[in-house]
Amino acid sequence: MKRAFVIGHPIAHSRSPLIHGHWIREHGVNGSYEAIDVAPDALPAFIDRVRAGEFAGGNVTIPHKEAVFALADSRDPLAVRIGAANTLVHRRDGLFAFNTDYMGFLGNLDQNAPGWDEGLDTVIVLGAGGAARAILVALAARGVKTIHLLNRTIAKAETLAADLGPPLVAGALDDFNRHAPTAGLVVNCASVGMHGTRFEGVDLSLLPKSAVVTDIVYVPLETPLLADARARGLRTVDGLGMLLHQAVPGFEAWFGIRPVVTPELRRLIEATL
Ligand code: NAP
Repeated sequence: MKRAFVIGHPIAHSRSPLIHGHWIREHGVNGSYEAIDVAPDALPAFIDRVRAGEFAGGNVTIPHKEAVFALADSRDPLAVRIGAANTLVHRRDGLFAFNTDYMGFLGNLDQNAPGWDEGLDTVIVLGAGGAARAILVALAARGVKTIHLLNRTIAKAETLAADLGPPLVAGALDDFNRHAPTAGLVVNCASVGMHGTRFEGVDLSLLPKSAVVTDIVYVPLETPLLADARARGLRTVDGLGMLLHQAVPGFEAWFGIRPVVTPELRRLIEATL
């Protein structure tokens, strides 16, 4: 039997066991996926168990993403650019680390806003925290020409833009309205939207009618930003799809079957929000 895991500290809140458990049942896989609470000082010993072959691999969440990246034997080049890993695979030549957040972000848009990147020149990304890095690398990999990275704390956007380089341009949240008329996509990576919070002064009416607005916050499923965008007739994509799609590459790597994000899976997870 192949075993997979999600480790974090704490870990009880993780929805990953539900997602992978659904696919294990759906495909009749002889495998398991379990949530394991691993405190930071216990991480090296746990990684030794994975290296020894006890698990096919697993997911890694806060606070272990950077540490696991450093402990792995080899790394996917895009994970190197992101500087963090969320997925481990046990291989004959050692532990391989990759980052599926960027694949989840792209998979969600590809499924729910087909054609979103055709002729896409300019993107506005709101927020420059941990989650933003994977999304910025994903957008750059799709050939976006300009990414305006706008953050409440401008210095953080500037540091991230300097680190990742072109096509990133750092700015303040107040710059949104100036860039909106040329933006084909708006991505919210800030925690604004949780508990019904909203951005002040962000005028979605300035966006082109063809613009897509997506939020990676998924509680609530429809954030005030997405509700405003939908009310203006813009295409919207919620953040739950990113969570579901980021699980696909890991499942495939451990169990050898590429699962599909179906409406049934979505309903299962939606019921837990
Ligand atoms: P983080 O590292 O703590 O970053 C938070 C970001 O939000 C920072 O840019 C911060 O700006 C900004 N922010 C917080 N409060 C703000 C406010 N009142 N006004 C303006 N900006 C504000 O968090 P993270 O790990 O990047 O996660 C961000 C969100 O993404 C979380 O809600 C998380 O649940 C969600 N997420 C979703 C997925 C998914 O699969 N859908 C994956 C990962 C994360 P400052 O720099 O100024 O503090």
